[in-house]
Amino acid sequence: MELLRPSDVAELDGGLFVAGGTEVVPLLRDGLIQADTLVDVRGIVPRGIDGTKVGAGTTLAELEANDRIPDALREACRLAASPQLRNMGSVAGNLLQSTRCWYWRLDFPCRLHGGETCHARAGEHREHAILGNDYCASAHPSDVAAALVALGATMRTTKRELTVADLYRLPTDDDRSLTTLEPGELILELDVPQPDTSVYLKAMERQRWSFPIVGVAAARNGDARTIVLAGAAPIPWVLDSPEALADATPLPGTAYKVEIAEALVRRALEAIV
Ligand SMILES: Cc1cc2nc3c(=O)[nH]c(=O)nc-3n(C[C@H](O)[C@H](O)[C@H](O)COP(=O)(O)OP(=O)(O)OC[C@H]3O[C@@H](n4cnc5c(N)ncnc54)[C@H](O)[C@@H]3O)c2cc1C
Ligand code: SF4
Repeated sequence: MELLRPSDVAELDGGLFVAGGTEVVPLLRDGLIQADTLVDVRGIVPRGIDGTKVGAGTTLAELEANDRIPDALREACRLAASPQLRNMGSVAGNLLQSTRCWYWRLDFPCRLHGGETCHARAGEHREHAILGNDYCASAHPSDVAAALVALGATMRTTKRELTVADLYRLPTDDDRSLTTLEPGELILELDVPQPDTSVYLKAMERQRWSFPIVGVAAARNGDARTIVLAGAAPIPWVLDSPEALADATPLPGTAYKVEIAEALVRRALEAIV
């Protein structure tokens, strides 16, 4: 395998991007992705925080430690993964991490792998989704993505500007991808507006080093409140109101997540009054 280290975006010509490598390396090792060329993007993706601008190469540890970063994002980073992973993992890499669905990770020929079946719906699905789960029942694992969507963050790539919310899409028969990122599109920078107040709450199996069973990011600007769930749908899920949880479509093994989400949403809204 070839490893490239470009020093200018103009040098990009295909290959698999790698930043911290905390996701790419295990996926390569397990044969879930293949690449002849790895492109280390750390020399071309900005890193660091300047006002509301956050370089896409900024690590979760750097976001967590910066008191100018909104509370919801700092807390989402603090509660993610482990200190070692937060030191290596970039914010862009976090947004693009793959599902933790065990069927997908074990390379079952499920819908996200191009097959005809969602094995989780009929099989083991305790950690899976309660919303938007008809086609694929995976639960989006990123705490950081939920916080950024709740904060109304936007991003700049080598091809366009978009909201972080618009980075995500539900998969269909025609397109199994969970993101709208095009091949070769590199995320360069995020803009994270400062809300009046924000919070991130997370239920997890252990107090540390655990993906969200349910995460709730909430932000308030004046009277406008935004609630976004992690671990509840195949993508970060914007909840129009707390009552919208009544429309959840849990699987037999994920009904408990609805109760957890209701409790966390209630607490999050109390915290941003
Ligand atoms: C054991 C474990 C526990 C974890 N727990 C949590 C958790 O609780 N909560 C949570 O939110 N996350 C969790 N994570 C995810 C972790 O935060 C991510 O693995 C990490 O942030 C990825 O960043 P990276 O720079 O290492 O990405 P990489 O592995 O380098 O890349 C990941 C993906 O992003 C692409 N990519 C990287 N940079 C760019 C860019 N600038 N533009 C376009 N594409 C790019 C790569 O091609 C690849 O597809 C966990 C991970 C592990 C391994
Ligand atoms: S939940 Fe999604 S990733 Fe998991 S088996 Fe079903 S289709 Fe595949």
